[in-house]
This record gives sequence, C-alpha cells and structure tokens, in this order.
Amino acid sequence: MVKPSSTVVVVGGGPVGWACALACASASRSARVVLVERMPPPSPPQGMIDTRVYTVSHDNLEWLNKHGVALDMSRSAQVDAIRVFDQHGSLALRIDSRDARRTRLASVVEHDALTAAIATRAKALGVQFVQGSAKATGLVDHERYVALGDGSVLTASVVIVADGADSKLRTALGVATTAREYERVGVVAHFQLAKPHRCEARQWFAADRSILALLPLPDLHGKPAASMVWSTTAAHAEQLRHLNPSALCESVTNVAAGQVEITSALTPTAAFALRMVRVADPVAARAVVVGDAAHAVHPLAGQGVNLGFADARALEEALGAGELVGNDFGHALLLSKFRRNRYAAVLAMQAATDSLARIYNLDTSYLANTPQTLSAIGDLGMRILGKLPAFRRLVSSVAG
Ligand SMILES: Cc1cc2nc3c(=O)[nH]c(=O)nc-3n(C[C@H](O)[C@H](O)[C@H](O)COP(=O)(O)OP(=O)(O)OC[C@H]3O[C@@H](n4cnc5c(N)ncnc54)[C@H](O)[C@@H]3O)c2cc1C
Repeated sequence: MVKPSSTVVVVGGGPVGWACALACASASRSARVVLVERMPPPSPPQGMIDTRVYTVSHDNLEWLNKHGVALDMSRSAQVDAIRVFDQHGSLALRIDSRDARRTRLASVVEHDALTAAIATRAKALGVQFVQGSAKATGLVDHERYVALGDGSVLTASVVIVADGADSKLRTALGVATTAREYERVGVVAHFQLAKPHRCEARQWFAADRSILALLPLPDLHGKPAASMVWSTTAAHAEQLRHLNPSALCESVTNVAAGQVEITSALTPTAAFALRMVRVADPVAARAVVVGDAAHAVHPLAGQGVNLGFADARALEEALGAGELVGNDFGHALLLSKFRRNRYAAVLAMQAATDSLARIYNLDTSYLANTPQTLSAIGDLGMRILGKLPAFRRLVSSVAG
C-alpha cells in the first residue's frame, strides 16, 4: 500500500488559517505544513488602529502566547468587563474578569496585527507560504490534491479549508452547508470618548432592534477611544455611512443612552455583511473545514475568530496523536477526534447567537408595528439574554 505523505496543506491565510498552520507545525515535527493564500503575506499595521478588530479571549491569547506569537499589545486594549444594556438603557447583564476567575476577559486586537504575528511565528516553525488561489480539490490514491489557479497542484495527507465564509473549496469538497444572510450590516468605526472606558466592552440592544457594541481601544492621540460595531439594517447602515462625523457621534451617543459620550470620529465608517454559515459535518475525506468557512456567526457575542482559534487548538490535539497512525495526518481516526471535540461546541454557540440575532431581525412590518410590539420583541430578547444560563455562558465564554 502507498503510504500517504506527512504534508498538511492549509487553504486560506486569514487569522484562523495561520493559527491552524501554527497548530499543525506545533503538533508534530514530522508534519510539513504549506499555507496557500491568494493575497500577499500580511504585514504588521502602522499608524491608526485598523477598523477591523476582534475580541480575542484570554484563553486563546494564552494559547498564542504559549506558541511564541508576539503580539504588539501597545496596539490592543484589555477587556475586563462586559456590560449589556436593554432598550431602555438599563443594565441587563454584567460579566467581569473576577466572575470568570481571569486577570482579563479578552483583548481587542487588530485583524492585520493578529494575522501578521501568527504568520511570522508559523513561518519561523517552518510553515511554507505559497501565494495562489485554490480552485479545485479531489482524492488521488491516499492523498488529497489542491489545484491552484496557475495550474500547479499540491498534494497532502490532509487539507485544512480556511478560506472564509464564501469558501469555494468547501463547495468543491461537496460539504453540505446552510448559509443565510442576516439582512443586517456591521458598521464599524473608531471614536474618541469623553471619559475613560475602564476596559469595559459595552453593548446596547436598541428599541429599533439594531445592536450597538463599543469595544475598548488603547488611548489614541492621548485620549480614550473605542471601536464600534453597529449591526443594523442595510438602509440604516447607508444612512449612518452618509452622516457627517458630528451627526454620527450624536447618533451613537443617543443609543448609548448616557453611558458613553462620543466626542469625535477617528476613522471613516466601513461596513461588512453579516451572515450565518453552518456545515453538516466539518470533516470530509482527508479534509477539515475550519473558521468562518465552517461557522460564520453574528458578531453579537464577539465569537467569530475565537471559534476559529478553538478549531486550531482541536486540530493541534488531534494531529498530536499522529504517531499512532504512522504520521498519516489525514487518517480518519485523527479527523474523528477533531469532529468529536468541535461538533457540539460549535453547534451550541451557533444556536445561541443565531436565535438571539433572529429575534432581533424579526420583520414586524406585518404586525401593527406599534411601539408596544417592538418593545415586546426587544424585551423578549433581553429576557433570553438576562435569564438563560446558556446565554450567560455564551457571553462569558469570551473569557474562556
Ligand atoms: C470586511 C469584513 C470586516 C469584518 N469586520 C469584523 C469586525 O470588525 N469584527 C469582527 O468580530 N468580525 C469581523 N468580520 C468577521 C471576521 O473577519 C471573521 O470572523 C474572521 O476573519 C474569520 O477568520 P477566517 O480566517 O476563518 O476567515 P477570513 O478572515 O475570511 O480569511 C479567509 C482567507 O482565505 C483567503 N482565500 C479565500 N479564498 C481563497 C482561495 N480560493 N485560495 C486561497 N486563499 C483564499 C482570503 O483571501 C482570506 O485571507 C469581518 C469580516 C469581513 C468580511
């Protein structure tokens, strides 16, 4: 019988793809890891903080740190508490680092800085970078191949599919997928604040069923600053994007209901589509689907990139048992170990975020559309938030 190689190919060089490459290289010295990404390698950002930022959980930061990833923490801010407000501006939920028995719940880190730091460490461990676009995949003998746009072909014992929510390789694998647009847009921008944020991430479930989050940033120009993610309808997002900076600051301050005063806008707004992606099974023959390609979620619980890092950690654990199967990293036994580790955890997180997001996305136009109707829906969401232990765990799992 032909023995499969010990090569692992990762497709997609976002934060999750690079974390998976790092995990595979760390799992076994026998693994040869190649990462394919269509864009040039990431470089650390300079100047203004990138508008695309993530709350990376304490445990995931510890994992990155343990693997030698050197993040520039002067460009990130610590999250010590999460406060969630209902549509009347009343505090509905508060979780702090003491509850979670952590020194911090999470840190707010830039997309580019995070990706570049993980890539630098992965390359130092021998991960090879190939710039190219994966077009097709299939099985040949005891290996999986990936064909690139330039006609070249890579073969591996396992392919890790991390090419994002619009994953083409997931489709090429034939993995059964449910994808749904939330019909909401995430509007992001950075602002200066009148008062220090005290390392609190704050979120408002507004009466118009939009969800406003303000995440702490390091001081900018010597003043406290925050990063906004406002999940709202496409029409409202368009309005927000066309407001002049002072009108935008006023709109955010109004929703923040006296809790936060925005003094000026530090960046223009940017917007991204919000969607849910779920796969029936993240494991296929000699392939594993990870990150947004397997489970894009609504940003309301700040879990997107954390779920992907948990995939990388599960991959490290599964491939760490490679010697038992002759370092065949695509062996069904190793891939089932990954599936067992991730299936239920991902499903639970998606069910909780998706149900809350859907309650807030309900189209009430067919109802009387009275303030009472909207208010009832808002309160229903807050009851779920405040009282369901599953949701408390969900939000506090930003810590773990
Ligand atoms: C515009 C935008 C803004 C966002 N802003 C925020 C935010 O502010 N806060 C937040 O929490 N979340 C945000 N998100 C969601 C967040 O980016 C994702 O949860 C996170 O990036 C998931 O990481 P990933 O590595 O799985 O996928 P991605 O970051 O999407 O990375 C996928 C990578 O695969 C590459 N790729 C795709 N196809 C191929 C191919 N065929 N061959 C080779 N390479 C390929 C892409 O170039 C990309 O680098 C945003 C998403 C988008 C699209």
